[in-house]
Amino acid sequence: MLNSKTLFVASSLTALAIAASASGQMPPQQPDSRAFKIGSLDLVSLHDAQFVLPNDGKIFGVGHSTAEIGELLKAAGAPTDTVTLSVDALLVKEPKHVILIDTGVGGALQQSLAQTGTKPEEVTDILITHSHPDHIGGLVKDGKLAFPKATIRMSSAEWAFAKKNAQLADIVKVIDDNVKTFEPGVEVVPQITSVSLMGHTPGHVGYEIVSGKGKLLDIGDTVHSSIISLVEPEWPVGFDNDEKGGEKNRIDTLKKLAKDNELVFTPHFPFPGVGRITADGDHFSWEPSLPAAK
Ligand SMILES: [Zn+2]
Repeated sequence: MLNSKTLFVASSLTALAIAASASGQMPPQQPDSRAFKIGSLDLVSLHDAQFVLPNDGKIFGVGHSTAEIGELLKAAGAPTDTVTLSVDALLVKEPKHVILIDTGVGGALQQSLAQTGTKPEEVTDILITHSHPDHIGGLVKDGKLAFPKATIRMSSAEWAFAKKNAQLADIVKVIDDNVKTFEPGVEVVPQITSVSLMGHTPGHVGYEIVSGKGKLLDIGDTVHSSIISLVEPEWPVGFDNDEKGGEKNRIDTLKKLAKDNELVFTPHFPFPGVGRITADGDHFSWEPSLPAAK
């Protein structure tokens, strides 16, 4: 289900992405990269952009007062008039594949990737959690494929959803021949399995990376704010295309992650976005925890 709020947000994010590559309306973004290991696999969290959104009750805590939202932010020691989200992506180096999970909005991702010594043409597979512009915007640069040799993989439901979104028409046209879809639950590339996390968008998935005893789940946009999404996971989020589905996925996934003490990557938590979720009564909290790089 689409609601008008989400369309508004999606369109402003598209505008941001276009501004980033064209007129520079988005402030210059700082590249950053942080390497770590999962089992024998080398991973790198790549920074793309920083979004500072107004605390106006349109995205977080929809239906709650901005004062109520401000109280949560204040209790966490954050500014009360804005909500800051990082936009990050994940690089996974598997023996025969160089994999990027999501591509940011078209901020500093390419420079962050360059810090790792990886060239765009070396990326073999791009796994997309969902088709919002802050995850697929970096697929296209100057009207061409930003990663020319990569197969772009997303769930079949998500690709169908993207093709219906007029805001994404320019991106869809460029990537069309390189997209390969899958049904959630399959191993998409060696050691990375897609996990259905529906609710945020119709075909939203996470990706579970397993190597030896090491494991990490990229949970995509199951959560957005490291403060509000965890303290009040039941509060509606304007970014969710299906508000109720987004809420259910958020609560179910957070409960499971806390119970399993699983290591997660979240694209919008403070960079590098790697850590664990802990349960705190009915609420949750975030413990950043980056495994060693060697
Ligand atoms: Zn997002």
